[in-house]
Formats: sequence, structure tokens, C-alpha cells
Amino acid sequence: MARKKIVVIGGVAAGTKAASRARRLDQEAQITIIEKGEEISYAGCGLPYYISGTVEKREELISTAVGVPRTPQFFKQVKDIDVLIRHEALKIDRENKEVEVKNLDNGKVFRLPYDKLILATGSYPFIPPVPGKDLRGVLTLKSMRDADALKEELADKKAKDVVIIGGGLIGIESTEALISVGCRVTIVELLPRILGGFLDPEMALLVEQHMESKGVRILTGEKVTRLEGEGGRVKEVVTENHSIPCDIVIMAAGMRPNVKLAREAGLKIGETGAIAVDSRLRTSDPDIFAVGDCVQNRCLVCLDDTHYYTPLGDTANKHGRVAGTNAVGGDEEFKGILSTGIFKVFEFNVGRAGFSEERARQDGFEPVTVITASPDKAHFYPTAQTVITKLIGDAKTGKLIGIQAVGPGTVDKCIDVAATAMSFGALVSDVSNLDLAYAPPYSPALANIIEASNALRNKMEGRYRGVNPLSLKKELEEDGDIHLLDVRTPAEHEEVRMPNATLIPLGNLRERIEEIPRDQRVVVFCKTSLRAYEAALVLQHRGYKDVRVLDGGLAAWPFEKITP
Ligand SMILES: Cc1cc2nc3c(=O)[nH]c(=O)nc-3n(C[C@H](O)[C@H](O)[C@H](O)COP(=O)(O)OP(=O)(O)OC[C@H]3O[C@@H](n4cnc5c(N)ncnc54)[C@H](O)[C@@H]3O)c2cc1C
Repeated sequence: MARKKIVVIGGVAAGTKAASRARRLDQEAQITIIEKGEEISYAGCGLPYYISGTVEKREELISTAVGVPRTPQFFKQVKDIDVLIRHEALKIDRENKEVEVKNLDNGKVFRLPYDKLILATGSYPFIPPVPGKDLRGVLTLKSMRDADALKEELADKKAKDVVIIGGGLIGIESTEALISVGCRVTIVELLPRILGGFLDPEMALLVEQHMESKGVRILTGEKVTRLEGEGGRVKEVVTENHSIPCDIVIMAAGMRPNVKLAREAGLKIGETGAIAVDSRLRTSDPDIFAVGDCVQNRCLVCLDDTHYYTPLGDTANKHGRVAGTNAVGGDEEFKGILSTGIFKVFEFNVGRAGFSEERARQDGFEPVTVITASPDKAHFYPTAQTVITKLIGDAKTGKLIGIQAVGPGTVDKCIDVAATAMSFGALVSDVSNLDLAYAPPYSPALANIIEASNALRNKMEGRYRGVNPLSLKKELEEDGDIHLLDVRTPAEHEEVRMPNATLIPLGNLRERIEEIPRDQRVVVFCKTSLRAYEAALVLQHRGYKDVRVLDGGLAAWPFEKITP
């Protein structure tokens, strides 16, 4: 029987995974990867850590866990996969089932036949079309080559002023790396806040404050109009309101799916602009699969057949496995994603899964949200740190549809538990009683996710009236007729307080209750709002009609605080 010919275009995460999986299932197939760059199978996610020096050697990002470099020779010897680096796929001839390929070293063009083709053409950084974008010193951080160029720029040890255009995941990870090697960093973000699309505004503001406390300058709601240069080299970023002198600019304004080949071959492009695939990762041509950053994914919590474009490395690897299986005759399904993501910035961990509140509303849900602040371990355990968790439930179905978590505490656990629960369509009430692991060094007796889901249930079932920090800020600005009641201890009040709040510690509330006006809206808070919830119940019991609790308390309040 003739050997099955499998051609893969793109040799980083998704492409090499697909090829390797195909080989494991079919020892006879003839498998070829075409990659226009020089490196293959490198860890793009590790680039910021290579810039910072956390990962010392470049080779570590292109080696297996036991230190063997993943070169074309490695793929040939170990896996019998042919890898053609510095070869670009120019065209897909679907009728004859051939790919037109150009050798970038000698310019020769040839045709490669396939039985099954896997597109793993990835993504590329969006470069805003501003004058000066081609000046020297204007860089991106996407590939090993980009990392090498940035390392070279940083080599002379002179402290550099860097402007990062874009406050998303890559911009933020790059910021930490650059600060750690002594740069001064300014982020310029077009939207009113950083991490738009990743976090809701009140959660993003907490991250913003943390970054500012580490010396990062963040300019939001600022459009870059041009880059100025001198002698062909960038020296200034000009926005509508500022001129920012700089030595280096990093363009981190988002990723776009690389769909050129697919589009020209007449394959269906989805509503997000990425390649449309079915649950087997087949494109509109059943002999062509597409995987990784070039495809869109079904949203696992959406009511309909909505798709997301969320280019991430773990998805690329899962895709590779599924398409590799199917390309050799298997029947593996990829159900979809929750856009689950996580990153670290200085001492903060930041994660999310499922819908943001904003997106849930746009997509036809009736979101009910809660914010809680709680320790990631038993509060008495010495290394316990705070996690601020926002949970999003749907009032119509009672389902959990989103989570966001930020803070110095461990966030991956609650994000992963929530993502698992959402994958199986869990109700918020299901999460409340999950049997999760507990011992003081690992978790509070009620894990953060459980505590947050209890608070959300209280809200959904009408027992708890909370107010989101953003809504409270708006209300205070609009009419200010709100009695802010702080029920912490005097010692806590001495340390930090909210402007215009009255202190009545919870222990004195019953005897001093008449000091609280009955004709005003009351918002109660404490450090995390646990005590505030108790206080609100007392006030309601004593006939106060309009009492709410500040979600997440002072710990999650991203606006002005007074430190006397
Ligand atoms: C700085 C940074 C940090 C990141 N951190 C994380 C993280 O923490 N977690 C996470 O999940 N993800 C992270 N990611 C994202 C992750 O790296 C990507 O999702 C992943 O690399 C996607 O792999 P891919 O194979 O689909 O595409 P790509 O990595 O884009 O590779 C596609 C390859 O296809 C080649 N190609 C394209 N067209 C052709 C053609 N016509 N002919 C030949 N070759 C072609 C390209 O040269 C490229 O090498 C990060 C990305 C960056 C840049």
C-alpha cells in the first residue's frame, strides 16, 4: 500500500505536535513539515523569561525536557519526519493536492504532493499603521529571532527607555522582563484600560496599580499618532497627548491569524477572521486540517455557535494532537475553548476563564457577578497571600460562566477548577460543594472558588446585595448621597481608609446603629467584605431598607484610598 503523504505548513507548536502525533499513530506515513523560519518547535511562551534572564540559555527554549535540541536532524533521526526550514509554502493547489514550496536559500520552487495537509501557519503581530513604524529600534516579540534582536538591543547594559504599544498579555509580560533588566517602561494603550478583553475593568485596574507600584508608567486611552526618529533610529513615540522619548519601541498591539494561504486557496474563513474548522479541525476542504493560532475555536460556554479567536500555546498543542490523529485516519474531537489564560506580572498572578461580565452581556447572558478577596492558604499559614476573585454566573440558567482572579496569591487553582466546572456545564451551586483538597499549606478550609461561589449564590438567590467597585464609584461621582460604612477595627482604619467613610467597628454596630442615617443608601465594607456582610444583615434586620456590601471590600477597591 502507498505510504500516506502528510504535509504540515508551519513548524512551531501546533505543526510539530501534529506531525509527531501522526507519526506515533502511523509509522509508515511520509510526513514533511515546511517552515519558512530557521527555528522549529521553540517555546514562544518562554521568550519573556529569556529576555529577563530567568531562562539563561537560548537553547533551553528549543530543547526537549532532557536537553536535546529540537532541530530538523532531531526530527529526522528520532521521528522520521522531514523538516524543511527556510522553505515557504507559496500556494495550495487543492485540485491536484499539491503545495507549491519555495526554498528561500536558493530561490527554487517545487511542488509537494499531499494526501492530508495540515495548516499550522500561526499568527503575526499587528503593527499599527503609524508613520515611523519601520525605524530601527521598533521591534516585536513573537519569535526567537525577535528575542535575539531585543537581546542585542539590550546588550550594552545602558538603561533603556522602552515604550510598549499595547497593554495585553505580551505587552505586560515584556514589561516585567524589561524592568527586571533595568529598563524604564511606558505602556501606551488605546483602550481606556490595559488587559481589555482579558479582564473586566475593575480587575484590570488592580493589575494596573500593581504595575505602577513597580515603576511602570501606563498611559491608557492614548492613540499613538507617529514615531519620530533620528538617523533612521526611533527616538520618540508621539500620542495625541504626549511625546515619550525612547530608545526602543515594542509593538504589542495584538496578534492576527495568518490566513493568507488558506484564504487564497478558497478555504472558509470564520467570523473572527481566523480559519473556520469543524470539531475534527477539518477546514472547509476535508483533506485539509488547520490548527493553532491560525484557527478560531468554538466557545464552550456560549449559547449558540459563537467562536473565539484566542491564540494560545496550550490550545495549539491540543489541536496538533487532534489533527495529527485525524490526518492518519483517527476520529478525535476538539470541543472548544474557554479562553482560559494566566500570566504573572511582578508579584501578581492574573488568570481568567470563560466570559468576562462585559462579553457575557454582549452575548445574551444575564450576568450576575461577585468579587471576593480571600487568602490562597489558611489565613494563619505564614505564606498565605490574597486572591481577588470575580465570578460570573448566568441568572437565567444558574450556570457558572466566567472567572477572573488577580493578586499575589495562587490563582491557577481556582481558574483551573472553574474552567473544569464550566467545561461540564456546572451550576454555581455545583461548585459550592466540590470536594477539593484542603490542608493549611494549600488552601483555606473553604477554597477561594468555593467561597466566591457561595457569595455568588447568595447574590443570585437574593440574600446578598453587593455593589461592584465600578458601579459604586460611578454612583459616588453622580450624586454622592451614599453613607459609606467601614466596619473594620480602629487599627485597620488607621492604616488605610476610604475617603468620606464612617468607621463603626462590627463589634459596636448594634449599640451605635442610630448614628447611621435611615434616609440614605448605605454601602458597608471591611477589608474583604465578610464582616461587612454580617453588618448588612444586622442593618437589614433593624429596618434599614437600602443596604449593600462593597464587593471584595477595600482589598478589591481599585480607586482612591487614604493612607494617613
Ligand atoms: C511573548 C509570547 C508569550 C506567550 N505566552 C504564552 C503563554 O504564557 N501561554 C500560552 O498559552 N501562550 C502563550 N503565547 C502564545 C503561543 O506562543 C502561541 O499560541 C503558539 O506559539 C502558537 O503556535 P502555532 O504553531 O499555532 O503558531 P506560531 O507559533 O505562530 O507558528 C507558526 C509558524 O508557521 C510558519 N509559517 C507561516 N506561514 C508559512 C508559510 N507559508 N510557509 C512556511 N511556514 C509558514 C511561521 O514562520 C511560524 O514559524 C505567547 C506568545 C508570545 C509571542
